[in-house]
Amino acid sequence: MLKKKIKNNNSDSSPLAKRICKCGCEKEFQPGRSDQFHLNSIHYDFAYNHGPRKEKYAEENQAIKTIRKNDRILEKYFKYCKKIRGDLNFITLKADGFNEEIFTRILTSIEDEIEIKYFTMYKYCYRIINQANNKYIRIHKI
Ligand SMILES: [Zn+2]
Repeated sequence: MLKKKIKNNNSDSSPLAKRICKCGCEKEFQPGRSDQFHLNSIHYDFAYNHGPRKEKYAEENQAIKTIRKNDRILEKYFKYCKKIRGDLNFITLKADGFNEEIFTRILTSIEDEIEIKYFTMYKYCYRIINQANNKYIRIHKI
């Protein structure tokens, strides 16, 4: 009789200690499983949609999209510049949606003792040429 009572008591109380929900709500809950870290599925979804991982991923995605777009614009004007055999005013690219703040890396090369910076995307890179208060762009295929 005594044995049975102890056994019943054990099965009534959960072996898992109470936890603080990981979504950031700071609510305490009784986990049903050892791998439960959120109060319920709503809190789990909230954590997933607002967590740092998702934010970082969205940020990276946006950068990749911008680089691809920049690359497409450079490709278009690379062909155009070949035709006209000249440089292009940078304003033209910007009007087309070119984002000069996003690139993969900067390559520097010394040409005629002058350091030249090339801003690279995936397939194309460009350099800026300042001429009489105007910014011109020279595009190269990588
Ligand atoms: Zn929560």
